[in-house]
Amino acid sequence: PTVRGAKVVVRDMVKHFKTPRGLFKAVNGASVAMEPGTITALLGPSGSGKTTLLRLIAGLEQPNSGRVYFDGEDITEYGVQDRDLGFVFQGYALFKHMTVAQNITFGPRMRKMGLDLDAKVDELLTLTELDGLGGRYPPQLSGGQKQRVAVARALACNPRLMLLDEPFGALDPLVRKSLRNGLREIVKRVGVTTIIVTHDQEEAWDLADHVVIFNKGAIEQEGSPEEVSRAPVSPFVMNFVADVC
Ligand code: ADP
Repeated sequence: PTVRGAKVVVRDMVKHFKTPRGLFKAVNGASVAMEPGTITALLGPSGSGKTTLLRLIAGLEQPNSGRVYFDGEDITEYGVQDRDLGFVFQGYALFKHMTVAQNITFGPRMRKMGLDLDAKVDELLTLTELDGLGGRYPPQLSGGQKQRVAVARALACNPRLMLLDEPFGALDPLVRKSLRNGLREIVKRVGVTTIIVTHDQEEAWDLADHVVIFNKGAIEQEGSPEEVSRAPVSPFVMNFVADVC
């Protein structure tokens, strides 16, 4: 492994937004613990607060109350750039006019990390099965390849935590399946703690060691996919279990 994933603990997180109709409780008292090197899926219907919790963990939003800990250190007041994060954004947000290699090294170059950039690119291209594609531009890649570039870029600064927001959205089911297997393999090899926001239950079950189910800003249930399937609390999950069994 090239990094050590953090143990990430979120305690009593609350985020309210002011709206014309009063305060909206997007996240209303969420506590969750994520073990180093594991994949946690935040699952739930649209509008249930998943992305808001992800943004709170990332430091892109400040909570009204609650704390975030990395390896026991309280990082709630740290800015996003001081949290050792890697992001895979919805739609990937690759730089179109940069090559794959330049996309991957963008973070380390901005942060002047003093890495051997060529070696880093080679390592990450191999890890994401993109060998030989470092000189291509994103518009020349398939959807699945772009997704893997986004993962490689997210890992370039050796993050302790990787955050993915609906990472397979626009791709067809077969490609998604193969990317999920690839992502599991990558996380296992690198050892980075990983959080995925998804409303796709099959994706959560396939990928995650730990599933956290949101409803209306609160955690309704959590556990391994097996535990949650055995005794689903949420009708949202029950429909899915009925579907796949
Ligand atoms: P999910 O990711 O589960 O779809 P979100 O966390 O994106 O849910 O959103 C939860 C709720 O919080 C939504 O109803 C959304 O409209 C609201 N919300 C999110 N961000 C803001 C904001 N900056 N201002 C006001 N409301 C917001």
